[in-house]
Amino acid sequence: MKLITVDEIEIRKRYKAIDSQTHKGAQGHALIIAGSYGKIGAAVLASKACLKTGCGLVTAFIPKCGYNIVQISIPEVMVITDAEKKYISNIVFEIKPQAIAIGPGLGQEEATQKAFHEFLITNNIPLVVDADALNILSKNRSWLALLPSKTILTPHLKELERLIGTWDSEEEKFEKTITFSMQYDVIVVMKGAPTHIINAEAVYRNTTGNAALATAGSGDALTGMICSLLAQSYEPIDAAILAVYLHGFTADIALPGIGTQAFIASDIIENIGKAFL
Ligand code: AMP
Ligand code: MG
Repeated sequence: MKLITVDEIEIRKRYKAIDSQTHKGAQGHALIIAGSYGKIGAAVLASKACLKTGCGLVTAFIPKCGYNIVQISIPEVMVITDAEKKYISNIVFEIKPQAIAIGPGLGQEEATQKAFHEFLITNNIPLVVDADALNILSKNRSWLALLPSKTILTPHLKELERLIGTWDSEEEKFEKTITFSMQYDVIVVMKGAPTHIINAEAVYRNTTGNAALATAGSGDALTGMICSLLAQSYEPIDAAILAVYLHGFTADIALPGIGTQAFIASDIIENIGKAFL
């Protein structure tokens, strides 16, 4: 398996500048399916990070209890609410997004699991799967076969273990993840320090990021960033590589001004623009 180090050269090869004649309709529409009672912040962070990564339009699909929270905290984001108050129970929408992310703060209610299954049966829009959506897949392994080709999965190490089982060595962890990615034709963003992005062709090792990223909501922001690039027509592997690099870079450039302890997920979002610059 090829090991590719993701440095600035690799990033510049993949980055596409925004056309001066573009309009919001041409910049992609992303749908973020996220949140449950007490975890609406995850939907806020993912949606905001998605917008700040350049997506033209972002819609959040959330349970009813999140309506005011999302509309007030991010006026730029459109909202579709589920019929249920506290969790997502039926994923129906009339919009046509170019990319969808599902999972941050989702919870694992029975009704949410069923809704996710129904969604997987009918959906073929490019997809990012994170957090509780990954945990639901771990409990219902046959649903993995329903993922669209090149779906991006973003497990941290605990979520990865639930997906592929335990490992005895680093080597075994990589072997099992590569096999998993080939078996289901998915891209695995193996989050850690450093993060590796894995598909059937190669293992890409990210070179940005630091311990400041070990904070609540950090992964939710990354999910929004990946979904944003996917909606902007980046190839799934490029969306994953670029977003992971930029996410890490926000922490690298912000650290001198904020400090590891005080850095929070909102600081990732604040610094996405500088990371692009
Ligand atoms: P999550 O656990 O889902 O919130 O995701 C955490 C994010 O922060 C992932 O992108 C990790 O790679 C990143 N992260 C966490 N801890 C570190 C660390 N010590 N060094 C670099 N990146 C980290
Ligand atoms: Mg997470």
